[in-house]
Amino acid sequence: MTMYMQEAYHPIHLCQPDCSKSCGACCGLYNWHDHSRSTLTALLSLQTELLAVHLPRNSIEAYRSERELRIESTKLCSDIYNCEFLGFIDPERKRVGCLAHPKVNNGNDLRDLCLYGRDICQNHFCPGYSCLTTIEQKAVIYSIDDWYLYGLIITDIDLVKEFFRQVENRIGDSIRERNLMHPAALKALRDFFLLKEHWPFKAAAPRLGKYFFTATEYTIARIDYQKRWGIPGSQYDKILVSLESDFSNREELHASERMIEEKINAFIAAYIAQQKLHSYG
Ligand code: SF4
Ligand code: SF4
Repeated sequence: MTMYMQEAYHPIHLCQPDCSKSCGACCGLYNWHDHSRSTLTALLSLQTELLAVHLPRNSIEAYRSERELRIESTKLCSDIYNCEFLGFIDPERKRVGCLAHPKVNNGNDLRDLCLYGRDICQNHFCPGYSCLTTIEQKAVIYSIDDWYLYGLIITDIDLVKEFFRQVENRIGDSIRERNLMHPAALKALRDFFLLKEHWPFKAAAPRLGKYFFTATEYTIARIDYQKRWGIPGSQYDKILVSLESDFSNREELHASERMIEEKINAFIAAYIAQQKLHSYG
């Protein structure tokens, strides 16, 4: 949500980490029934183009009316705010951000026009800032180079932490930055994160990560392994829940576990290869 912040507290700027991507998740970016890449790209483009016309004229009500007419999407959870000032902040449309922010609005701070107001917008830091370790934050930033996937992953604490836990248990060590920051390891990590966008076992019911939505509430989704298949659980339960999984039968569950296993093993192979290079050097 924030575009600039105090580096002493948050040395890594998760909202706007670099020129190739950024995040707008806490401004409601993904809170749409259809939150596919193509739909959100069209929505952000629409808001960017309409705001470019209306903000300089200070015609916010006209903007709101026109946006309302042209938006086709419906909200996922009505209690979560979908901010109308979210758009692309760069000409290349690689970075999502706040178009009411003074840095992109000729010095005018229009954030008080949104539901949260300027103070909340400026001072909100999502759990990614406090719950992810520095190496986990860097892993997400350096492996992903587009706003859509980046926003989905940097806000999915369970997915990132569980990936690290699985890998570290197998290699018997913490993931080290010097072995991680290599193209092959980063690509393998990105391939794992891409499961989030292209997961074949995604539930049909409205979900966002581990949250399941009814009309106005969200609760944590669970997979009842015992009841459905008479098994105690899956070693990848946290990952499966984060990926919004639903399975028709036990075979699908096992197929999904194999897919996750393959991605983790591919990462470990790339990581170990790099580790060996360093130990020879
Ligand atoms: S969800 Fe977190 S990283 Fe994303 S914009 Fe909000 S505060 Fe920044
Ligand atoms: S006004 Fe606040 S909620 Fe809206 S896009 Fe800007 S930072 Fe996000």
